[in-house]
Amino acid sequence: MPLDLPIPDHFRYCPRCGSQSLGPAEPDRNPVHCSACGFTLYFNPSSSAGALILDSAGKLLVVKRAREPAKGKFGIPGGFVDPGESLEETVAREVREEVNLELRNLRFFASFPNDYHYKGVIYAVTDTYFTAQVDSFASLAPEHDEVTGIQFVDPKTTPPSQYAFDSLRAAVKRLNGPQNLSTP
Ligand SMILES: [Zn+2]
Repeated sequence: MPLDLPIPDHFRYCPRCGSQSLGPAEPDRNPVHCSACGFTLYFNPSSSAGALILDSAGKLLVVKRAREPAKGKFGIPGGFVDPGESLEETVAREVREEVNLELRNLRFFASFPNDYHYKGVIYAVTDTYFTAQVDSFASLAPEHDEVTGIQFVDPKTTPPSQYAFDSLRAAVKRLNGPQNLSTP
């Protein structure tokens, strides 16, 4: 298996003129730059949004991931921002799709950088986290392509290794922290 590589490292030929004269425009900078034709391509981080939903006992709603990366680990409902969408729209849509809940009191909580490995490519992602409440969990249902199960876990005692991503571990740590006053 070849090593996972960041997006620019997958380009061998200029997408515009086909030459192999590719390199960063400046040392240690991200863009793909063609010195033959001047073509320049930037890869800024993608955005994702997820919901930290606590029940009345302070348990966190987690989903068991059906797919790589981090298959079988705990994630939270959420996903990548579509073009033209706000973070708030993303989190509401993803929560509806993945676990069939309607959110209220959506509040920005935190953001953390993440490296998302998928099919040999490392995507830089800005993961954003929102706290939210629901009126009822009665409609709760997993979307089986993405999620093999839904559980409520104690965020204070669940081993960090069970969470899918470093950014989620950081978000849960902040959720548990004494400085966080937003926990219901
Ligand atoms: Zn070129």
